[in-house]
Amino acid sequence: MERRMVEIEETGLSFVTEVDLERLQALSEEWLRLIGEDPEREGLKKTPERVAKAWAFLTRGYRQSLEEIVNGAIFQAEGSEMVVVKGIEFYSLCEHHMLPFFGQVHIGYIPNQKILGLSKFARIVDMFARRLQVQERLAVQIAEAIQEVLEPQGVGVVVEGVHLCMMMRGVEKQHSRTVTSAMLGVFRESAKTREEFLDHLK
Ligand SMILES: [Zn+2]
Repeated sequence: MERRMVEIEETGLSFVTEVDLERLQALSEEWLRLIGEDPEREGLKKTPERVAKAWAFLTRGYRQSLEEIVNGAIFQAEGSEMVVVKGIEFYSLCEHHMLPFFGQVHIGYIPNQKILGLSKFARIVDMFARRLQVQERLAVQIAEAIQEVLEPQGVGVVVEGVHLCMMMRGVEKQHSRTVTSAMLGVFRESAKTREEFLDHLK
């Protein structure tokens, strides 16, 4: 598949993608017709093109890899104190409705000689969030990725999200927040470690 640079006009953002934008654009146009719209009317003329680019961006996590993201930002750790990175924003799409869910990710780990540059945690979260997801799997994939990269004594991931597919369709309470978590290693085995991590999140 051809790789090309795409710009999102409204944001000034540009990125490289291998998504077939022409086909996605044609599909978006058809989609507009199917929901009862007229893709020819003024306000919608550029919509299929915008939709194609937006979806290439919103699903770019499929085309990223852990190695590329970590890119050598692993350092030698001195001690084995718990490291907690709180409040990493994420924006994802639920795989059941392809509607957004978003919120925050909190990560804790106890190093085993290796630590990761702090900015890399946000990039790992983003790589998994920018795919079709369920919130439970998002937590597990982030935890497993950190496990793989750092081989820590343990890792804990808590994801808090609100789901537009629930809120917009009115089947759940409008203000309901979903919390999911994944605990590996000492975070799974030791209630004390888990509590210490969860205390940090209060
Ligand atoms: Zn959904």
